[in-house]
Amino acid sequence: MQKGDFPWNEKDFRYLALTVAGVSSALLYYYFRNTGREISWKDFVHRYVGRGMVDRLEVVNKQYVRVILVPGADTDASYVWFNIGSVDTFERNLEAAYMELGLGLSHRPAVVYSTESDGSFLMSMVPTLLLIGFLLFTLRRGSLGRGPGSGRGGAFSMSESTAKMMKDNIDVKFKDVAGCEEAKLEIMEFVNFLKNPQQYQDLGAKIPKGAVLSGPPGTGKTLLAKATAGEANVPFITVNGSEFLEMFVGVGPARVRDMFSMARKNAPCILFIDEIDAVGRKRGGGNFGGQSEQENTLNQLLVEMDGFNTVTNVVVLAGTNRPDILDPALMRPGRFDRQIYIGHPDIKGRASIFKVHLRPLKLEPELDKDALARKMAALTPGFSGADIANVCNEAALIAARHLSDAINQKHFEQAIERVIGGLEKKTQVLQPEEKKTVAYHEAGHATAGWFLEHADPLLKVSIIPRGKGLGYAQYLPREQYLYTKEQLLDRMCMTLGGRVSEEIFFGRITTGAQDDLRKVTQSAYAQIVQFGMNEKVGQVSFDLPRQGEMVLEKPYSEATARLIDTEVRTLISEAYQRTYQLLSEKKAEVEKVALRLLEKEVLDKNDMVELLGKRPFAEKSTYEEFVEGTGGEDEDTTLPEGLKDWNQERKDKDESQDEQVARQISGGMPF
Ligand code: ADP
Ligand code: ZN
Repeated sequence: MQKGDFPWNEKDFRYLALTVAGVSSALLYYYFRNTGREISWKDFVHRYVGRGMVDRLEVVNKQYVRVILVPGADTDASYVWFNIGSVDTFERNLEAAYMELGLGLSHRPAVVYSTESDGSFLMSMVPTLLLIGFLLFTLRRGSLGRGPGSGRGGAFSMSESTAKMMKDNIDVKFKDVAGCEEAKLEIMEFVNFLKNPQQYQDLGAKIPKGAVLSGPPGTGKTLLAKATAGEANVPFITVNGSEFLEMFVGVGPARVRDMFSMARKNAPCILFIDEIDAVGRKRGGGNFGGQSEQENTLNQLLVEMDGFNTVTNVVVLAGTNRPDILDPALMRPGRFDRQIYIGHPDIKGRASIFKVHLRPLKLEPELDKDALARKMAALTPGFSGADIANVCNEAALIAARHLSDAINQKHFEQAIERVIGGLEKKTQVLQPEEKKTVAYHEAGHATAGWFLEHADPLLKVSIIPRGKGLGYAQYLPREQYLYTKEQLLDRMCMTLGGRVSEEIFFGRITTGAQDDLRKVTQSAYAQIVQFGMNEKVGQVSFDLPRQGEMVLEKPYSEATARLIDTEVRTLISEAYQRTYQLLSEKKAEVEKVALRLLEKEVLDKNDMVELLGKRPFAEKSTYEEFVEGTGGEDEDTTLPEGLKDWNQERKDKDESQDEQVARQISGGMPF
C-alpha cells in the first residue's frame, strides 16, 4: 500500500477519537441518569416489604431486581433496586424473608421476570470501535514505515510449511521401541504397505491412510512413528499441530496444503503430525475466538487426506494425548481409520524399556543389565518411557559428577529420586521447627499406610527438601485398574495421614498439606460424581471438568450440585475421623518413625519393618512377585508371531550398528 492510498490523515484520527469519546460519555450519562436508588437487601426486607410499600418486583436480566413501590410510598423515586447473585438464591432468600415476616400468600407482591437492554450492548460496541480505529491506525503506520510492496513478502513466506524432514537411514527401528507390542503390531501393517504396495493393490484392498496414536505424553508415540519410517526405510516428515495456528487468516490452511504437497513429492513417506488436537478440535464446540480459522485449517486437512488415493503412498500418522476432543470427521474411514492407544508401560514394559536405554551405558562389571532392568522396573511404577530414558541419563550424569568410571546401582536410585522429586536443595535449610513438622507429617502418611490394608506399600520416605516439595514418600502402586470403595477410602485416609499427624502432635495445622487435600478432594468428587459410589447421589456419572478447561454449564441441577457438595464434605470428614482414630491408636509408632526420620532423613522399607514390625498385610515388591500369574517373566515371550520375525530379522543384522542406534536414542551421553 502506498502513502497516497489512504484517504485519512492523522487529524482525521484525532477527530475519530474525539467522536468515540463523546458518544461513549453521552451513553454513560444516559445510562445512569434514569436509574432509581440502590438499596440493600436488609433495607428491602424491613423498610419496604415489612411496611407494605412494595407493589411488585421485576427481576431484570437475572441480574437485579427493580422494586416498584406503591404510589406515594416514596417521594424521591418511583422505584428502588438491588443486585442479586442468582435468581435461585434470590427466590430462596425471598421465601425465607416472607416466612420471617409472617406474610401470607395473598399479601406477597407479584414477581415478574423480564429482560431488557440496559445499554450494555451499546457500551460493548465502544471497545470494538476503538479497536477498529487502532487497527486502521497501525495499518497506516505500518505502510508508512516500510517501502511500497514490502508487506507482501512477509505474508508469502508465512504460508510455507514449517514441517521438518528426515531422509535416508533413519536409525530408529522397532527394536528401539519397547513396551508397546500391541501398538507395534498394529502399525506394522503400514510398514508392509509402504514396502510392497503392489501386494495390496493386486488384491483390490484399500490401504488405510493413517492412524492416530493416542496416549499420555512421553509414552513413545513420536518414537514409534519414527521407527515405522525407519523400518520401512522411507522419509519421515514431522510437524507440530500448533504450527498451523497463526494469527493471520489463511496461513493455517496454506501451510497444510504446502505440507501435503511436500509429502506427495517425497512419497512413499510417513507424515507425522504431533499434537493434532491443536488443529483437530471438534468443530462448533463451545470455544470462542479464532475458531473459524482453526476450522478452516481442519477442513483443509480433511480435504488433503481425501485427496490421497491408493497409489499416493503417503501414510499420515498423528499423535495426541487428548483423543476425546478430536473431531469425529478425522476418524472417518479413509482418513485416520485406525486409533492406536499407547498407555503407560506396565512392569514388564518398563523392564524392556530399561533394557533399551541401559544398552549404551557403561555399568559396573558385576551389574547384570537384565537383572538391573527388572529391578528398576519394580521401583518405577507409573513412569513413562520418557521418564525411564531420563532416569538412565540422570544416572550417567550422577556417576560422572562423582567421577566414577562406571555407573552403579546407587547412581540409579539417586536418579529415580531425582526424577520423582526434582533436584535436591542443599541450600534450602529448614528451620528446626519446620523440619520437625515435615518429619511428623511424613511419618503420619507412612504409618497410616502401613496399617491400612489397601494403601500402597511404602518404598521410601524422605524429608530432604527437593524441587517439588519439602518431603516425599514413594510408594509401589499395584498395577490395578478397578478399585472398590473400601480401597479408595484407605487411600484417602493415607493421604490425610500427614495433616492428622500434625494435628495430633502439635495441635495445629500447617499449609504443608495443600497437595494432599487437593488429591483427597479430587478423589471424593470422582467417587461421587463419576463412579456413582454415593447412595444419595445415586448411580450417575458426569464428566468432571479437566484442569484448565472452561466450564460453561454443569450437567446437573443446582440441587444436585448442593447435594454433591455436602456428600463430598461428609465423605472427607469421615475419612478424616477414621484416620484420626487410627493414628491416635498408633501414636507411639508415628513418633518412632518421625524421630528416626529426623535423625536419618531418609527411611526405606527395611527401616520401617525394623520400627513397626512386619506390615500386617501381604504385599508385592519384587519384579518376580509382580509378574507372577501374568503369563511369562519377560515381555518378549508375549510377542505376537509377526513381531518375532521382525525382531529376528533385526538380530541377524550387524550388531555394532545396533549399538550406534541405541546410543542415538538415549539422547547422547556426555561422554
Ligand atoms: P511422545 O511422543 O509420546 O510424547 P516420545 O516418543 O517423544 O513421546 O518419547 C520421548 C522419549 O522417551 C523417546 O525419545 C525415548 O527416548 C523415550 N521413550 C518413550 N517411550 C519409549 C519406549 N516405549 N521405548 C523406548 N524408549 C521410549
Ligand atoms: Zn503430605
